[in-house]
Amino acid sequence: MAANTVPNISFNDGNRIPLLGFGVFQIEPKDTAGAVGKALEVGYRHIDTAEMYGNEAEVGQAVRAAGLDRGDVFVTSKLSNASHRPDDARAAFESTLQALKFDYIDLFLIHWPLPTLYDGDFVSTWKVLEEFQRDGRAKSIGVSNFQVPHLERLAAEAEVMPAVNQVEAHPYFGNEEVRECGRTHNILTQAWSPIAQGKVLGDPTIIDVAELVGRTPAQVVLRWHIQRGDIVFPKSTTPQRIEENFQIFDFELDDASMDRISSLDQGEAGRQGPNPDTFDYMPS
Ligand code: NDP
Repeated sequence: MAANTVPNISFNDGNRIPLLGFGVFQIEPKDTAGAVGKALEVGYRHIDTAEMYGNEAEVGQAVRAAGLDRGDVFVTSKLSNASHRPDDARAAFESTLQALKFDYIDLFLIHWPLPTLYDGDFVSTWKVLEEFQRDGRAKSIGVSNFQVPHLERLAAEAEVMPAVNQVEAHPYFGNEEVRECGRTHNILTQAWSPIAQGKVLGDPTIIDVAELVGRTPAQVVLRWHIQRGDIVFPKSTTPQRIEENFQIFDFELDDASMDRISSLDQGEAGRQGPNPDTFDYMPS
């Protein structure tokens, strides 16, 4: 095995996902095929997109242009906030497959729980994702931005538990309660904005740990996530950073360094993105 091979981790449904992927949020459609093409060339085999990112078609295009077998690349997409009603969710999922030009997706997520919309009913939306998994068009299904009560409600009412919960997590916002609830229910955590969109990279503790191990700040933060057992997919449109972020499997952080990074957690004050309890963005 090459020193820097990306390990896979198993979901509660038996499928496997590479621990490191490439995120395409806020990459313009015109730049997406180039960035994903670069990532695939570097060795990434896991891409995280969403209908609301507007670049699913370009992700599919890049996978085909790389000449890889469909089965060699793990692709995630997510249901738009506009499509939670069951029939809308069915149509949106079909559109996602059409945009990607895939006949299946590896992982499909409810992007946001939207507890203040749709009468707070994300359970009937989830049951539609269960259909997609049953008919084989979604190999695995999961959720994103679900809080503890949302996960507990699925545990009480759903047939299938999510394979993952994709939530904001980084050194300034450890999101520990949600991660702990995931562990209890055998749901893996995917950490979005793993480097807090760059905001943690200038932190003196991170810089100090990076100097200690002879790595960059981004590499030690990504490595910290992996050693916590979370799945990450940093975004970059800078070729040198796409390469840098991939080099995280040939070194380790010791317990003291892990603890120092974990101690930067500011709780709720460290959250950079919206709070899922109130987030109600609706694409036009
Ligand atoms: P990240 O934490 O991945 O940070 C991306 C930013 O950091 C970009 O500005 C990038 O700049 C910069 N950057 C990347 N690598 C480096 C590096 N090595 N050194 C210095 N700067 C660097 O933020 P994202 O919010 O994009 O999160 C990652 C992915 O998570 C998304 O792309 C998406 O797939 C997912 N996500 C999911 C959400 C959800 O609700 N489910 C919400 C938000 C994100 P540049 O591009 O200029 O190189």
